[in-house]
Amino acid sequence: MPHRLPLLINGEFVASQTREWIPVTNPATQAILCEAPAATADEMAQAIAAAKAAFESWKEVPVSERARLMLRYQALLKEHQEEIAEILSQETGKTFEDAKGDVWRGIEVAEQAANIASLMMGETVENVARSIDTYSWTQPLGVCAGITPFNFPAMIPLWMFPLAIAAGNTFVLKPSEQDPMTPNRLVELFLQAGAPPGVLQLVHGGKEQVDTLLTHPDIKAVSFVGSVPVGQHVYRTATDHMKRAQCFAGAKNHMVIMPDANKNQVINSLVGASCGAAGQRCMAISVAVFVGDSKAWVDELKDEFANIRPGAWNDPQAAYGPQISPQAKQRVLTLIKQGKEEGATCLLDGSDCTVEGLPDGNWVGPTLFTDVTPDMAIYREEIFGPVLCCVTVDSLEEALALVNNSPYGNGTSIFTASGAAARKYQHEVEVGQVGINVPIPVPLPFFSFTGWKGSFYGDQHAYGKQAVRFYTETKTVTSRWFDDDIPASGPNMSIHL
Ligand code: NAD
Repeated sequence: MPHRLPLLINGEFVASQTREWIPVTNPATQAILCEAPAATADEMAQAIAAAKAAFESWKEVPVSERARLMLRYQALLKEHQEEIAEILSQETGKTFEDAKGDVWRGIEVAEQAANIASLMMGETVENVARSIDTYSWTQPLGVCAGITPFNFPAMIPLWMFPLAIAAGNTFVLKPSEQDPMTPNRLVELFLQAGAPPGVLQLVHGGKEQVDTLLTHPDIKAVSFVGSVPVGQHVYRTATDHMKRAQCFAGAKNHMVIMPDANKNQVINSLVGASCGAAGQRCMAISVAVFVGDSKAWVDELKDEFANIRPGAWNDPQAAYGPQISPQAKQRVLTLIKQGKEEGATCLLDGSDCTVEGLPDGNWVGPTLFTDVTPDMAIYREEIFGPVLCCVTVDSLEEALALVNNSPYGNGTSIFTASGAAARKYQHEVEVGQVGINVPIPVPLPFFSFTGWKGSFYGDQHAYGKQAVRFYTETKTVTSRWFDDDIPASGPNMSIHL
């Protein structure tokens, strides 16, 4: 029988009583790595109750002690980075280097959470009226929940619980059922770092468990990262139940290539940003917008695409790994077929990709389309595979109009040698994260991850100052201390202080 993952409730790893076990497979082989429980209703209730009870004491723990927990956690994550990355590679198929990056980008958020005191500072003004001062405190909300996707099983859980907990909240994490082993290891290390019981719970499952979190009265805020339809469901349901919600959803990211850009940088960036992680990144570049004469570079781009191939996580020659599941692979293949039927030119077709020695992997080879137009499914849909769609336009204005017409707004980049073109693009583009000669502009944790439009529902974004605002309430105090020297006044019947 495969190993069965436990739940973490009130500081104990417990065996679930569920009858529903979800197999977790290695996407390069289909071997079953373990099974994750679909937590029962009772177990969900226990997890939320434990978080609620722990909040009463955790919120009173001094901020510097909470910060020190994050320092110890950051050190443990660093010490175990390669071991976590190996688990992550097994269940996602990511190459080892890419898996280490997934862990590292999470470690950086834990590191930022150790700065929590300065992030929680309020505001003060003395003498707002005679002898009266006003100041604000930043206080935690209570129990927060995180629901995470398969594609960054270390980074995205770490976007959420370290900052929420450092801010004084307690947390219930429901990671993707497709790769729950990595989050399991992350929470083991959090306990090892000294997290008190109940501060963090780990539950597993799918829609039913998510819906419990979205509707339970003791959950105060919900952080979600995943696909558009689920993100919309989560945002609607959570806000309908009067909770705060921040929902990061799907994307279709464009890279605009001006004719004055450095050709080699453009080509290398396009290959890495479209096919890295098998295209399964919310910030992947899936559309290349060639402006004017830059379209002449497509032949060389094709040669570079043809030079890379997927493979096993520990194959140093592999550029990327498999799709996460046979269903995900099938979806990518269906979209490639549809692209051809709708009239795009498929310069390189990865549909029949095989990898020696791994006949059962969910492989898709690098795929390159030209003559793509906005009405085609391959342009409209998030393919989430190693597929790049090339579009040609005549001017920067036309490129801007195309990108701004997209319902998504997660990331975009422009490659150019012109400061004026770059300035115009960064200013006018309706996308939340912009790279200038940088293909995937994911901000480091002292900023926030600021997707826009259909890629994000909510207002305060992930990590950085915005996340601290999301996970806290502001309390504003106006105070006066009576002094014998100040003559007592009579009742004040007006609104003035
Ligand atoms: P998904 O929406 O299928 O799953 C995300 C989470 O929601 C999982 O924990 C899953 O168990 C849960 N879930 C699935 N169906 C549900 C339902 N019907 N009701 C309630 N919960 C449900 O997403 P995925 O396939 O795991 O992840 C890939 C998607 O995530 C892509 O669209 C990608 O763009 C997006 N993503 C976005 C960002 C971002 O920052 N904008 C980052 C990473 C991934």
